[in-house]
Amino acid sequence: MTRSISRVADPFELRGGVLHCEDVPLPEIAASVGTPVYIYSSLAMRDHARALREALSGLGDPLIAYAVKANPNAAVIATLGAEGLGADIVSGGELARALAAGIPADKIVFSGVGKTREEMGQALEAGICQFNLESGAEAELLSEVATALGREARAGFRVNPGVEPGTHAKISTGAAESKFGIQASEALAEYAKAAALPGLRMQGIAVHIGSQLTSLAPFEQAFATVGALIAELRIAGHDITLADLGGGLGVRYDPAPPAPPSPADYGAMVERLTRGWDVRLVFEPGRFLVANAGVLLTEVIRVKPGVTHPFVIVDAAMNDLMRPTLYDAWHAIEAVRPSGRRITTNVVGPVCETGDTFALAREMDAVEAGDLVVFRSAGAYAATMASTYNSRPLTPEVLVDGDKWAIIRPRIDVARLIAGDVIPEWLAHD
Ligand SMILES: *Cc1c(COP(=O)(O)O)cnc(C)c1O
Repeated sequence: MTRSISRVADPFELRGGVLHCEDVPLPEIAASVGTPVYIYSSLAMRDHARALREALSGLGDPLIAYAVKANPNAAVIATLGAEGLGADIVSGGELARALAAGIPADKIVFSGVGKTREEMGQALEAGICQFNLESGAEAELLSEVATALGREARAGFRVNPGVEPGTHAKISTGAAESKFGIQASEALAEYAKAAALPGLRMQGIAVHIGSQLTSLAPFEQAFATVGALIAELRIAGHDITLADLGGGLGVRYDPAPPAPPSPADYGAMVERLTRGWDVRLVFEPGRFLVANAGVLLTEVIRVKPGVTHPFVIVDAAMNDLMRPTLYDAWHAIEAVRPSGRRITTNVVGPVCETGDTFALAREMDAVEAGDLVVFRSAGAYAATMASTYNSRPLTPEVLVDGDKWAIIRPRIDVARLIAGDVIPEWLAHD
């Protein structure tokens, strides 16, 4: 069976004993930009986009809308936009970013449970492809905003199929008790109400059950629900022309099983489940496109003895990469110049929280103070969640393309952080 990243070359490889991103040795970036720093491979993003497009090529002309929240850097969006991808957005900020990065409005879909009047107005003015509505109240508000602007809003409901996707609870969105979407059992009634509202064209239906899915079964269940609903909605007189199947395809973080489904397996499953639907399909991949296109490069500050294992203290912390503490996520940790010697160690950052732990009892390359180390698979849900907690500078990002590289977000240093604070007059001292 074809499996995961097998078809996509790994752009991070050892050359002459030194880890490179494409043709650029990572120590060159560290020497110039400092650490910690996120580094992304253009080649990997393009490869993932092409692998997915190829896997979905039997489905007519699907819209592949990159889920911007996975990595919203303008250079990342532009890289994927150049591959013909659209954007799945969840806020007015993401709308602005997608448009600024050159994504055509008619390739943008808007998801999220809390769209405001202002955000709806902005998206309507831009002329996006579809609003994925998550409640009847949202449909009413969108109708109001569209009518006031003299525009027609193309919309569909996001349906909650009541499926347990078998992923981490914090990234599971399709279970019956989740805040997302409307219940499938209420869909007919909600569509009937929404279709009667002025300014709304209920053209679509959407589903997204969660992220980092490592099995196809939950997708199949969800898509079967959508297929049945399309048939029922048509019988009720709704002209459904678009079905948005969401994102969620998992990626390989850990070489240990379970391996996520390959794009080809996913595509074949979609083809089987959607046969005869007679709609344009939309996909909203995020993680799949960017996770394995990025690393977080960090330097070892010191190695400190521990009771059971030593602590490798690196200059990246939970504020730079939150996934381990937020989702119990596992990231491969590798030395940039591996000696071949291995150690078992805890890997931690300098932040004053026990949660600032990247790995416990991890077997990894032996490292010492001053050595460079990478966290792999750090292209998705990583830099975008970075904060300046503990008054740490905001992590910079670098994009590599062949032997070229550029800073795509500079480090926001402590002087700039302080400059953003305002001391009110009554506290000012002379
Ligand atoms: C987050 C999200 C996605 C992307 O999920 P991935 O697991 O990164 O593919 C797609 N659609 C919606 C509605 C989302 O909220």
